[in-house]
Amino acid sequence: MPRGMFKSGRLRKIFVKTPGGRNTVHYRSRKPSKALCGNCKKQLAGVPRELPSKMANMPKTAKRPERKYGGTLCSACTRALLKVKARGESQ
Ligand SMILES: [Zn+2]
Repeated sequence: MPRGMFKSGRLRKIFVKTPGGRNTVHYRSRKPSKALCGNCKKQLAGVPRELPSKMANMPKTAKRPERKYGGTLCSACTRALLKVKARGESQ
């Protein structure tokens, strides 16, 4: 029977085959949920779903798209917002 801390479901199970041919269960922390658009809640593309320790070592350019509102708004919402802003400034 696993220890109490492994029974709560906080950690995900990894089934590892040992060199002896036996299957053992390893436990690893779960990855965070996918990043969502701040406006329409659609899943964002180009934003990795990694543990904070891996995100800290990742270059900034690999963490979100290199455009205005990258990593915050989806492409469709960004396009709509930029159109509204440009039209507002010209008037
Ligand atoms: Zn959106």
